[in-house]
Amino acid sequence: MNRYSVFSLIKNALSGHKNWKRAWRAPEPKSHYDVIIIGGGGHGLATAYYLAKEHGIRRVAVLEKGGLGSGNIGRNTTIVRSNYMLPANTKFYEHSMKLWEGLSKDLNYNMMFSQRGIINLAHTPSQMDAFSRRGNAMLIEGVDAELLTTKEISRRVPGLYTGKNTRFPIVGGLCQPRAGTARHDAVAWGYARGADNYGVDIIENCEVIGFIKDGDRVTGVKTTRGEISAPKVGISVAGNTSPVMKLAGVNKMPIEAHVLQAFVTEPLKPLINTVVTWGAGHLYISQSDKGGLVFGGDLDGYNSYAQRGNLPIFEHVAAAAVTMFPNLSRLKLLRNWGGIMDMSMDGSPIICKGPLPGLYLNAGWCYGGFKATPAAGWCFAYTIAKDEPHNLNAAFTLDRFYNGRELDEGGAGPYPAHQ
Ligand SMILES: Cc1cc2nc3c(=O)[nH]c(=O)nc-3n(C[C@H](O)[C@H](O)[C@H](O)COP(=O)(O)OP(=O)(O)OC[C@H]3O[C@@H](n4cnc5c(N)ncnc54)[C@H](O)[C@@H]3O)c2cc1C
Repeated sequence: MNRYSVFSLIKNALSGHKNWKRAWRAPEPKSHYDVIIIGGGGHGLATAYYLAKEHGIRRVAVLEKGGLGSGNIGRNTTIVRSNYMLPANTKFYEHSMKLWEGLSKDLNYNMMFSQRGIINLAHTPSQMDAFSRRGNAMLIEGVDAELLTTKEISRRVPGLYTGKNTRFPIVGGLCQPRAGTARHDAVAWGYARGADNYGVDIIENCEVIGFIKDGDRVTGVKTTRGEISAPKVGISVAGNTSPVMKLAGVNKMPIEAHVLQAFVTEPLKPLINTVVTWGAGHLYISQSDKGGLVFGGDLDGYNSYAQRGNLPIFEHVAAAAVTMFPNLSRLKLLRNWGGIMDMSMDGSPIICKGPLPGLYLNAGWCYGGFKATPAAGWCFAYTIAKDEPHNLNAAFTLDRFYNGRELDEGGAGPYPAHQ
């Protein structure tokens, strides 16, 4: 593998940048592997990387129906945080945060991981109480958390309107200083390059269209590029979880597919140097290194497999953004897009063995699977390699929905729109 460094940059600059090697190969699929991972998103690629790196399992194929990174990994608003409430989630996302902190070095790929902090705004005293409860839950688990006054928020985010002449005045906020953003494409490319370097075959334009089974046991997959067998098949297809599970004969999943949109404005001079979320509705906003404001809000509110959304959400998020930052009112939107979210019914994920022998499942990431990418890959690889969950994902079972052990992180019950 070409090691990326200042020296390789200078060397390649001297030869007109014509001698860079491909970051990953484009192999033909083999007829058999030890493990097949369906889905070349962040989670699938990270799983393959940790299978090879942590468990020495290198005869692995990642099958991606489109181009690498064309799913949610390349479509999200890139927020990374571990400010959860329930112990199972807090521990898991904090493990992810620790992996993020060393990821650029581990993968020798610049993730542009920027720990610029996240501030969740509170607009009522009861919301402030809920934030102090969450902050304390985080501190108990060893996660950084700070309660902020309105004055302190105003000092940290100068463009934010903190006056009283508004329907939802800000009364304070909860900050996680180690939270931040990362470059989403780099995460896909970095894990792909790392996995490929260990010998993993990343096979693009290879859609799984069926499963090969021996009785109930899954023994391989049928793809648009032929049949491939493996004793272990991991599913990591985010918004396409239900259709792919259906191909395996599992017809009912506690997951709904919804569209979530993201928006980017024209570039501005530095204005917002942290991530801010609005507590009176749903909006999260940060500024990219190129200067564009990146933001998103609610789901579109209907089930869909389209990677694009509709206009009401434009109005909804634009109104919230201008309420927070009135000085943005004449800014132009440059781009928007949508991704298909795998909304679980309790807002928490699934990383488990089964539900069929030979099958392993990673799904239910709701709004939050980007930040989970390193830990999801790490835990899914562990579960596949050892045939049992790690402590960190032991609670993320599929059967919790059948035996009533949901992890209701949003405290909202089985309503995907509220997770
Ligand atoms: C607009 C938006 C904003 C978001 N913002 C954030 C955020 O700020 N922070 C955060 O933590 N999370 C965020 N998320 C969520 C996060 O992006 C996802 O939860 C996460 O990326 C999902 O995991 P993945 O990367 O593996 O998914 P994907 O990249 O979607 O990977 C799944 C892959 O499976 C492939 N596939 C599907 N079916 C098949 C098949 N039959 N055969 C082969 N391949 C198949 C797809 O083509 C796709 O590439 C956001 C998502 C969206 C859409």
